[in-house]
Amino acid sequence: MAHQLLENPILKRAFPTSDGLSVPSLRFEQIAIDGYEQVIKVTEASVGLTAIIAIHNSSLGPALGGVRIHPYGSFDEALEDVLRLSKGMTYKSAIAGVGFGGGKSVIIANPKKQKTPELLLAFGAAVERFGGNYICAEDAGCTSEDVKIIRRATKYVVGLPNANSSGDPSLFTAWGIYRGIQSAVKQLFGSDELEGKSIAIQGLGSVGSRLSELLFWAGADLILSDLDTVKADWLAHKYRAKHVPIDQILKTTCDILAPCAFGGVINDQTLPFFRCRAIAGAANNQLFRDRHAAALQGQGILYVPDFVINAGGLLNVTSELDQEGYNPTTPRNKVHRIYDMLLAIYEIAERNRESTHAAALALANYRIKYGISKRTIPPVFHHKAE
Ligand code: NAD
Repeated sequence: MAHQLLENPILKRAFPTSDGLSVPSLRFEQIAIDGYEQVIKVTEASVGLTAIIAIHNSSLGPALGGVRIHPYGSFDEALEDVLRLSKGMTYKSAIAGVGFGGGKSVIIANPKKQKTPELLLAFGAAVERFGGNYICAEDAGCTSEDVKIIRRATKYVVGLPNANSSGDPSLFTAWGIYRGIQSAVKQLFGSDELEGKSIAIQGLGSVGSRLSELLFWAGADLILSDLDTVKADWLAHKYRAKHVPIDQILKTTCDILAPCAFGGVINDQTLPFFRCRAIAGAANNQLFRDRHAAALQGQGILYVPDFVINAGGLLNVTSELDQEGYNPTTPRNKVHRIYDMLLAIYEIAERNRESTHAAALALANYRIKYGISKRTIPPVFHHKAE
């Protein structure tokens, strides 16, 4: 991807972090990208940090989004990922009505080998430099324990594993996916009863494993797959599910396919293989390109927009920034209503004869344009560094 590197004198200044940690060689370079408010490359050579922090849009409130730690094949690959993810966060926040904007960050590193406390602290120092315009959280490759380390360098984090914070968002995400699957079943079959519905889950990590449990209790027939075949076997045994190899899960005949592993699963190569009635899962950016939404519609497959269905974790982490502090019943009740939002989106899409993805995007843009749920009170960070 072509981009222009610009020196930004303000961000280049060395600065102390909130715990007094000094990061003298922290370096910031601005990357000018059309349609994005701020995209910054961050490096700190002494700890091997190369990261990108992207703020897509902050018209409704400070940008918020996870930190992904991944051994990207190239800088441009990482850049493309952070751009797509931060834009998705803008739409997710706008629809969820949380009063935040869209941001995301990526650290180019292998989380199993290169994730040191020093690297996380240097990254935290970079986040601190944004002065609250970017708030970070966990994401793939970055656990809530890692966020705890980042917290030592900046207060602008959410999702810490302590009582003043909201902890692991996955259960809330899984419950949102469950409600979204119910909405899809209601749309397709006229009732949201899940008993006897066949549901295939790709990826049994934090979200997928919890989702499989929820669906088991609802009486669904599960088809499971994960790179980790021992885990997939175990969960298949536990929930009387069928375990299929990873190259078969997208081709499985089922009522609902739930991608819960990684993005881009709906693309030119996979489209001919789908044998499901609907796609409803947790992964971000499931559509490789926007045009794949119309292609799915053409194949008669209901697509449940990812940035609407997977907002449960966002609803949970943002509620810890409420003035009164974190109360899990608030996000629980909001996540429950993802069902209603999705039914409204299906209706708009039908009325306008457009894809559900296009309808959700139009709704998000409308909310941004007219400042619906725009933040009026600054977020309150109740947690302390440990
Ligand atoms: P995770 O890393 O815990 O789990 C991902 C799982 O997918 C792992 O078990 C991995 O082995 C498996 N996997 C990887 N490649 C696979 C393949 N080819 N086939 C089958 N399985 C494969 O991630 P998570 O927290 O469960 O999140 C799942 C997805 O949902 C991610 O895309 C994430 O960005 C998105 N998401 C998560 C949350 C959240 O609260 N955790 C919120 C919103 C969106």
